[in-house]
Amino acid sequence: MVDLSRVKIFAVIGAGTMGREIAQVALMSNLFNKVILHDIDNNALSDAKNYITTGLKKIESKGKLGQNLTTDSLLENLVITKDLITAVKNADFIVEAIPEVMELKQELFKQLGESSPEHTVLATNTSTMSITKIAEGSNKPEKVIGMHFFTPVPLLRLIEVIKGEKTSQETFDLGVLIGKNLPALKGKRYIAQIEKESPGFIVNRLTISTSPFFSWILDMATNKGIPYEKIDNDFITPPDLGPLAKWDYFGIDIAIDVLNYFAETVSPEFAPGKTLTNLLKEGNLGRKTGKGIYEWIEGKPKIKSPEKAGLFNLEQFYAIQLNEGCRLLEEGIVKSYKIIDDTMLAGMDMPGPFRAGKNNYEKWSLILEEIVKITGITYYKPCDMMKSGEFLKFKK
Ligand code: NAD
Repeated sequence: MVDLSRVKIFAVIGAGTMGREIAQVALMSNLFNKVILHDIDNNALSDAKNYITTGLKKIESKGKLGQNLTTDSLLENLVITKDLITAVKNADFIVEAIPEVMELKQELFKQLGESSPEHTVLATNTSTMSITKIAEGSNKPEKVIGMHFFTPVPLLRLIEVIKGEKTSQETFDLGVLIGKNLPALKGKRYIAQIEKESPGFIVNRLTISTSPFFSWILDMATNKGIPYEKIDNDFITPPDLGPLAKWDYFGIDIAIDVLNYFAETVSPEFAPGKTLTNLLKEGNLGRKTGKGIYEWIEGKPKIKSPEKAGLFNLEQFYAIQLNEGCRLLEEGIVKSYKIIDDTMLAGMDMPGPFRAGKNNYEKWSLILEEIVKITGITYYKPCDMMKSGEFLKFKK
């Protein structure tokens, strides 16, 4: 049995977008004597402190911080430090949230293995990568887990907790228990327990599965001079962000890193297409540089009209996701499709593909055959589990 009261010091490494929010919910849980936030960059640390303070105050003003808790009392438990050893030498549970670069994470886990106590659990917030590989140099892979949070962490309910090949059951159980006890403003935390790792776990595996299709569409639109916004409008209604605008939003460089990782680990057909590659070469990385697939003004893409191209539809998107979900079942990553749908809902605030896919898999298999014909992307051939409807046996 794992015991939460043994975890007194909670440390977060990396104080960027994710690290600061993870530290904030750790403070809000009021479970730990100290929450220590470390970064190599002083500015990131002071920005994070301001961000956390503002976030806590806002929640406090809505009366949602919890009984007898105030921003000031919670901030007393926060320590920020640029010194890694100070951050981890007495920590009981450490969450890493540094950039998604395997070599950086491996180097850090080596240092964490050397500098943290033997009993300390090391969690990585990687969005896509192998927990086993990240853990390699740590000297205690049985103490390493994946703990994949979704931003905004104080709001969204989902955390994916993932076992690496050598993760012990005790480590996994502690990660799940801590996850369940971190507050979320949208409701009770939902912990997706993933017993076997695979690139992108559940949410990103399904989400990224549509990327080769969108990358093909993007190149086609470039070649034929079709305005990108018309393509996005086939899938959404502005001001929601369509799939192409989302690449810009998160950063073309990040999208390309992820696609290259999937090309290495899932299928070569994930390799980024021409338009994305050219944008990277030109330094047009999307929202953060003011130009990418779209022009960005004050954090929003410049969209002139809600007109649609009328070439694509949401059914294609869901057909691809259903196929990927069925692959996860085939590979034994998860045991039921309900877990996949619940995870998508908790993490993305949108229904998973099985709810509608249950009744449409035959039609959607034909849609996939059509996509293969048009795009030449053979990865989209419907897998046996989808085509046959065999997945229906894996409800619970
Ligand atoms: P970020 O770039 O916003 O922040 C990373 C921080 O890590 C920076 O402040 C940087 O100074 C610091 N850093 C770099 N090397 C370090 C080191 N060796 N030691 C200590 N600090 C170091 O990145 P992010 O968006 O917060 O992403 C962090 C991780 O979380 C990545 O693995 C990413 O894939 C994952 N993730 C991101 C999101 C998202 O939406 N941004 C969602 C889920 C998971």
